[in-house]
Amino acid sequence: MKAVYYFGSGKADGKAEMKNLLGGKGANLAEMINLDIPVPPGLTITTEVCTYYYDNSYNFPSDLEEQVKNAINKIETVMGKTFGDPDNPLLLSVRSGARMSMPGMMETVLNVGLTSKTIPGLIKKTNNPRFVYDAYRRLIMMYSDVVMEKAAGLEPKEGHGIRHQLEAILDEYKAKNGYKSDIDLSGDDWKNISKDFKIRIKDVLGHEFPDNHYEQLWGGIKAVFQSWNGKRAISYRKIENIPGEWGTAVNVQAMVFGNTGDSSATGVAFTRNPATGENNFYGEWLQNAQGEDVVAGIRTPHPLNQSTKTEESKNLESLEEFLPDVYNQLDSIRQKLEKHYNDMQDIEFTIEEGRLWMLQTRSGKRTGAAAIKIAVDMVEEEMLSKQDAIIRVTPDQIDELLHPKLHVEDEGAATILARGLPAGPGGGVGQVVFSADDAEKWNKDGKTIILVREETSPEDVHGMHVAEAILTAKGGMTSHAALVARGWGKCCIVGCSSINIDFTKKEMMINDQAVKEGDWISMNGSKGTIYPGKIKLEPADPESNSSYKRLMSWADELRTLKIRTNADSPEDAKQAIEFGAQGIGLCRTEHMFFAPNRIIEMRKMILAEDMSKRREAVMNLLPFQREDFKGILKAMEGMPVTIRLLDPPLHEFITLDKPQIEELANELEISVSKVKNRINSLHELNPMLGHRGCRLGVAYPEITEMQARAIFEASAELTKEGIIVMPEVMIPLVGTSAEFDHQENLVREVASKVINETGTNFKYLVGTMIELPRACLTADEIAEKAEFFSFGTNDLTQTTYGFSRDDIGGFLPDYLEKNILSHDPFQSLDISGVGQLISLAVDKGKKVKKDLKIGICGEHGGDPNSINFCYQNGLDYVSCSPFRVPIARFSAAQAALKN
Ligand code: PEP
Ligand code: MG
Repeated sequence: MKAVYYFGSGKADGKAEMKNLLGGKGANLAEMINLDIPVPPGLTITTEVCTYYYDNSYNFPSDLEEQVKNAINKIETVMGKTFGDPDNPLLLSVRSGARMSMPGMMETVLNVGLTSKTIPGLIKKTNNPRFVYDAYRRLIMMYSDVVMEKAAGLEPKEGHGIRHQLEAILDEYKAKNGYKSDIDLSGDDWKNISKDFKIRIKDVLGHEFPDNHYEQLWGGIKAVFQSWNGKRAISYRKIENIPGEWGTAVNVQAMVFGNTGDSSATGVAFTRNPATGENNFYGEWLQNAQGEDVVAGIRTPHPLNQSTKTEESKNLESLEEFLPDVYNQLDSIRQKLEKHYNDMQDIEFTIEEGRLWMLQTRSGKRTGAAAIKIAVDMVEEEMLSKQDAIIRVTPDQIDELLHPKLHVEDEGAATILARGLPAGPGGGVGQVVFSADDAEKWNKDGKTIILVREETSPEDVHGMHVAEAILTAKGGMTSHAALVARGWGKCCIVGCSSINIDFTKKEMMINDQAVKEGDWISMNGSKGTIYPGKIKLEPADPESNSSYKRLMSWADELRTLKIRTNADSPEDAKQAIEFGAQGIGLCRTEHMFFAPNRIIEMRKMILAEDMSKRREAVMNLLPFQREDFKGILKAMEGMPVTIRLLDPPLHEFITLDKPQIEELANELEISVSKVKNRINSLHELNPMLGHRGCRLGVAYPEITEMQARAIFEASAELTKEGIIVMPEVMIPLVGTSAEFDHQENLVREVASKVINETGTNFKYLVGTMIELPRACLTADEIAEKAEFFSFGTNDLTQTTYGFSRDDIGGFLPDYLEKNILSHDPFQSLDISGVGQLISLAVDKGKKVKKDLKIGICGEHGGDPNSINFCYQNGLDYVSCSPFRVPIARFSAAQAALKN
């Protein structure tokens, strides 16, 4: 098996298409070599080796060592240095690289090859002992942390890890000698510190830090493979749905140094602005530094160029100003990469003694707004087709634009507590917690929290994921917190240096003001401002974003599925039309009965002793219902409106306390005990499977008659006003065709009467919800009469799985944790089970009625994967809540393109 792919000096074994085998990093390094971009030579050990390693009790293929050695020989030739050579040593970096980027999830060891043998030679060669000992102490810090502690499976308590301990030694040393910054330390200082580090490592971990270059290399390689199954990598994969079988590749590459002196530097950049999408080269850099310094937030990074400067950084020298030639070379690489990949890239570079080296390129994480702008701009720049643009943007990124912001005026009136860098957009309001574990705990208790950290690390992702927003004291726009939050579209502010956190007291000082755990704060992640207390959140305003509107107009051109909405009021209906809805797919009528002036009639109806009393009570509700339907039909003029007849178990209306029972007895002129008896007799052990849905209309036909009359009288009145109405009457929870036929007859009878009485003419349909397995199995029989089907996938999921939709919360976490379910089936359709029933019902229904209209109105109607399934099964429309309508429109276009 070819386990090692070499890349270097104009020639690479791999290429960009080989991401599965080489990981994203390895494949893109190879691709850059093929594009003649300067990349230090190196080798990639494939993801297959990772799988082999786990399948074979942590052993490598027998010839791996030889393959690695051969590739290192080639690196040595290109670099003119030799690994382990006492006179002219080659140093190597060891980094992970999975198929999909997992920022900071896995491990890196730099400066591999520094030993007591090679250090003197390198000092002689560079004439820079400070640089050599600085590099050495970095190797010791990374290696002891990554290889000797994490890969060995040690799990010290928070704050007791070896890395922390070594950092404490360094801080102590600096304090003792009056040094402020790392820059103040001399070569001798780093040498002393390295000695102290090694003593502490032996003490704490029980082993010597290895002094052999090959031992270091293989320790690093193994640690990267180990890190694939580290705790934080596993929890990140779970959140991002990355399969464990993918494995990671390992990249071993010649070291180049950004910290050899003042003409050396390192930086990270995006080929376009990752927050706004603007077509400006955007990045940060540090003189005389190694890459980790930029992201770790130890020193404040400088802006790459004029367009990256902000109010805070306007006086810092940019790379454009400091090294214009190198900047221009970098800028032309930026253009080459964008043209080649047709996508915004996230790049890392190092300048060694004035010479530019590229260390990474990958598709850059971006906010939703940036994703949309970049995709639309790239269509205009003829880099992408409209179809590419639609596929490129994700439904989640569209969703981000639909997210709330702080109320503009309230925010203007609030005093700013502090400022930081605007790393993730939108507003965030919540209660402060200071650790990821607390974030998780508080979230479980139903609290909305903001996670505040010094800086975040991959160990924090579980807390970051449940946080409403993230705030860090350190770090730049490319820090871990910023990258992760942006990827998730979360409100995030980083580098807020006026924060001083006391973790033991669980409080922070912000410019003399104490904020304790549990205190509310508000954040504007688009501006980087933080406020005390709660500021109102405002709904998003996607309509003011021109790129969004263009992209959505292309989505509408390309999709064939229609998008309706679930709405029970004219207000919701209007909102949904603004979001682009083309009709109502579900108007639930039960909510309409809860107003104080109606509920009493409803209760009278339910408790009535005989048919005539019941009819009287029901008919008192007619004028109310007629007005409801008139409002909705009018708001949806010319569009179909599916109105569902009464569905919920009756006891929902008669859960009463003592005074309410007494009032009711009074109204009904019967005794309290009679009311109580009647309520008791309606009690059900299993109301979800009890007297609900069409079973109500069968037992109490006057309810169906009243509702049908209200719908048709509203339709007749509007028709007279010249308004086009398209009512669709929907019978719920049908399990047999006889149930449907019974209700349909009632509805049609009323329709004929109303049409006669009013002398009007309008079209209407009578159809049913398909939300029971039996309805799916007998869909052909039901379709004989029904003019449409609408899949009620909430109940269909409930009755197919036998999971109570109201009680799944009790066991779902266990099911997800133990991989018994991959997702909540009430959120995203269970395609292999419930999906089969849907496919069957569609087939059977269409066999009987070719033009049967079919839609879906369960929660799944707003879920991208479920929408794709609906498209594949030839449904006519999906119906979802008004705020999901844009996502549904967009997902429908993606479905049309993907299939
Ligand atoms: C359904 O069951 O999917 C549905 C839309 O109806 P409800 O949620 O009102 O039961
Ligand atoms: Mg239902």
